[in-house]
Amino acid sequence: MPTYVYRAVDSKKGCTHCRRGFEIIQRMAESPLSLCPQCNHPISRVLFAPSVVVKGSPVTETDRKIKEYEKEGKWSHAAELADKEAEKTKRQDLKTRALENYKKAGYNFDKYDT
Ligand SMILES: [Zn+2]
Repeated sequence: MPTYVYRAVDSKKGCTHCRRGFEIIQRMAESPLSLCPQCNHPISRVLFAPSVVVKGSPVTETDRKIKEYEKEGKWSHAAELADKEAEKTKRQDLKTRALENYKKAGYNFDKYDT
C-alpha cells in the first residue's frame, strides 16, 4: 500500500503533528484525508515522494542517530544532539526537534530559573 504525506494547509495553524507533516499508509481506493486526525485542521496531500519532503535537509548520519535516541526514549540525548547539529547547520527543523525532545525529557522552559 502506498504511503501518503499530509501537511497542514495553513502552516501557522494546526498541531505539531500536521504542521510538520506526517505520513500515512492508505489504500489506493481510500479517499484522501482533508482534516488532521489529531486537531481537525484542514490538511492537504503533499505530492512528493516521502524521501524528498524535507526540502533542503538531507538525512544525515546525525539525523539517524537522533532518530535512534528518540526510538529508545533517550530524549535528552536526542535533544542535545539535535541542538548541537542545529547550531552547526542552522537547520530550523532540528532546533524545533531539540526543543520537543527537551520537553519530553522533562525540561520546562517556562520555569527555567531553578
Ligand atoms: Zn493537526
